[in-house]
Amino acid sequence: MSRWLGTERWRLSSRMVIVSLVLLLCVQLASFVAIHTSIERNARRQLGEQLEVGARIWARLVEQRATKLGQGAALLAGDFGFRSAVGSDDRDTIVSALDNHGARINAALAALLDTQYSVKAVAQGEAAAALMPTLAEIAPQLAAHGNAVTMVGQRPMQFVMVPMRAPVLIGWVVMGFEFDRSLVDDLHAVSGLHGSLVARAGSGPAMLLQSSLPADSSARGLALSAGPPRSAEWIQHSVPVSRSAMAEVRLQLAGPLEQAVAPYRDLQLVLGALTALGVVLFGLGNAWSARRVTQPLRSLVQASERLGRGVYDVPVQHTARGDEIGDLARAFEHMRTNIAANEQQIRQLAYWDRLTGLPNRVQFRDAVLSQMGSGDCNSLAVVMLDLDRFKHVNDVLGYAFGDRLLQGVAERLHQVVRDGDSIARLGGDEFALLLPRADAVVAAGIAQRIATVFEAPLTLDDQMVDLSAAVGIACWPAHAGEVDVLLSRAEVAMYAAKRRSSGAMLYDATLDNASAQTLSLLTELRRAVEQDELRLFLQPKIRVDGGQLCGAEALVRWQHPERGLVPPMQFIPFAEQTGFVRQLTLWMFDQAATQQARLRELGIERVSVNLSTRDLLDIELPEKLDAILIRHRAPATAFCLEITESAIMDDPERAEATINRLAARGFKLSIDDFGTGYSSLAYLKRLPVDELKIDKSFVMGMADAEGDTKIVRSTIDLAHNLGLSVVAEGVESADILNRLQQLGCDEAQGYHMSKPLPVDGFVAWAEKWQANAVWPQKQQGPQTAGLVAH
Ligand code: C2E
Ligand code: CA
Ligand code: CA
Repeated sequence: MSRWLGTERWRLSSRMVIVSLVLLLCVQLASFVAIHTSIERNARRQLGEQLEVGARIWARLVEQRATKLGQGAALLAGDFGFRSAVGSDDRDTIVSALDNHGARINAALAALLDTQYSVKAVAQGEAAAALMPTLAEIAPQLAAHGNAVTMVGQRPMQFVMVPMRAPVLIGWVVMGFEFDRSLVDDLHAVSGLHGSLVARAGSGPAMLLQSSLPADSSARGLALSAGPPRSAEWIQHSVPVSRSAMAEVRLQLAGPLEQAVAPYRDLQLVLGALTALGVVLFGLGNAWSARRVTQPLRSLVQASERLGRGVYDVPVQHTARGDEIGDLARAFEHMRTNIAANEQQIRQLAYWDRLTGLPNRVQFRDAVLSQMGSGDCNSLAVVMLDLDRFKHVNDVLGYAFGDRLLQGVAERLHQVVRDGDSIARLGGDEFALLLPRADAVVAAGIAQRIATVFEAPLTLDDQMVDLSAAVGIACWPAHAGEVDVLLSRAEVAMYAAKRRSSGAMLYDATLDNASAQTLSLLTELRRAVEQDELRLFLQPKIRVDGGQLCGAEALVRWQHPERGLVPPMQFIPFAEQTGFVRQLTLWMFDQAATQQARLRELGIERVSVNLSTRDLLDIELPEKLDAILIRHRAPATAFCLEITESAIMDDPERAEATINRLAARGFKLSIDDFGTGYSSLAYLKRLPVDELKIDKSFVMGMADAEGDTKIVRSTIDLAHNLGLSVVAEGVESADILNRLQQLGCDEAQGYHMSKPLPVDGFVAWAEKWQANAVWPQKQQGPQTAGLVAH
């Protein structure tokens, strides 16, 4: 069951666990992504702010240096000696003062400018000459701001310029310094940020002048690139340092992103660990609760499989639960107990006789069989008895009385049996005893005791009834080795006793010439069904008034390989005796159902099928017919079931139950051979019958005997009073048909219209009948029928 197409199916529990885990992981993943992006955004913003702070620090550092350098220059400009040398225009002294002072404060250039910014004197430095053009260019700017950074050749230089006043402006002292790495290093030391000085001349390539970045850092290349100052690892900020016609110098500040993100890394790790832990706990919890659901479900599946196998005695589990599974379990349990109770009832019906509480024929046969099979029993006897005149008692004193009589007989039989013997009612007024470990002598003794206890009349309601019975005895293994043969031999002996009115008879082979034939006939009949030797014949039924074809009766024929077409009366009674008729009925019904659609096209509303006593005693008959109807997709209303009076009277209670169930399904029911039995119309009224078939002996008798016409007339009137329709069978002449019309009979069946015909012959007959028989209007009567087909 757990395998399907060779692959293990996903169990419900695993599916529940996996689905919820996947959902949990999705949620965790989404929050992880959200946190990650917000960390990165935060880090970038913070870094950006840090870079701005760095830019301000840079400006301060540059200014501080300029102030320091400016102080150096101002010291010279305020020097008394130097001022008087300038005042007296003593060039040598001026140059020497510039030299000394410049060397002391490490200036690359020291110069004196006049008020028009032209150089008056310059210290003797090597680079001085090279610096002259630049100086001339930036002097006005210097005069305004006091200091400036600018490119000189390939090097950045910082210049400071202070005025000399005496007290009016008499000139400017200018000093130039190498703009060395110390400033970017200071910046790095103070802010942790890296700075790179980058120069760019016009649209030429950028040039890295100085940098606090390690030589192999990727940020160096980044500082030079002209693209946007963003990368995955660094954030940059650009600060202008100087701008001249020749070149522009900028400071590129860079901060590593990694450093900004680092504090959050731990947080992310903790989050990841929590997620993993959550998944594990969630998975375990889910698996546990899924098991709590699926385990009881599995046990319910097993329970339903048990019910399917017909095991009803194991109670369903989990009925005490308060949840939906509990509801389901209780529904199953309810179903189980109901089925078990029904089963019990059905078993009761199938194995017990309700009237007397004794085992029935089926159970009796089983008991004999199991005795034969049990090791400790090597002989047994079956005693069978059939009450005399029981039908008469029933007719005269009523069925209720008859029932109590049967109960009284059962009680008396209990008085004769030994411990371990069993009693059964086989049906009607037939009883049987099973005597284990008994031989013919013991059995004869029991038969004698039966005769003794039956001697005293039975008193019921102040009525005394004499009891007597025909008794037959057969022994195993002396008379038969097989259960059915043993039972039929006891029956043979019983019938022989009945014929000879001799009380008890022991089975003897001489009794049984007929029964030997019987056995071989049974074998032959079985073969007949297997080899398809039975045939369905149909005989039409017509409306007496109008002549339309309205029905057909299904009648069986046996196409015997040697004997030719055997009429039913030669094997039906025997088939009834052996019970084989039940198979025959089903075969006929199946055939009739096969032809039903074809017959409907001919205008035939219903096909009549004959049932036998044995059929009515079979409690499963309605279901068996259902199965055939379903197979042929035919409705029950398309069939009429013909039942003889005697079939009903054999076991009225059981027959009535079956008849009611058949009627409930929509079958039309007809009493066949009416008039030959003992049943009263008053009794039949209780049954859901629709139709009455007057036995053909009365109908045929109408031809000469006035008496039979009277019987037919009163039967028709009585039936009509009870709301039954009447069919006359055995209509052999137009004259009789005519008289039936006058008597108000509804339908007719007989050789006058047609004998029973094979299906094809019947169809041909029906077409001809309908084409030619232009039946006259009511007043003309059926005697003017245009055609009588034979
Ligand atoms: P039934 O049910 O009374 O069937 C009517 C019998 O009367 C048929 O005899 C039919 O051929 C005969 N019949 C019809 N019209 C006339 C007529 O005008 N004159 C004369 N003389 N006879 C006529 P069939 O077919 O020989 O059947 C005899 C009996 O065998 C049936 O009597 C029925 O009891 C039994 N039978 C026939 N087929 C089946 C069957 O399939 N199942 C059972 N259980 N019994 C069947
Ligand atoms: Ca019939
Ligand atoms: Ca009949």
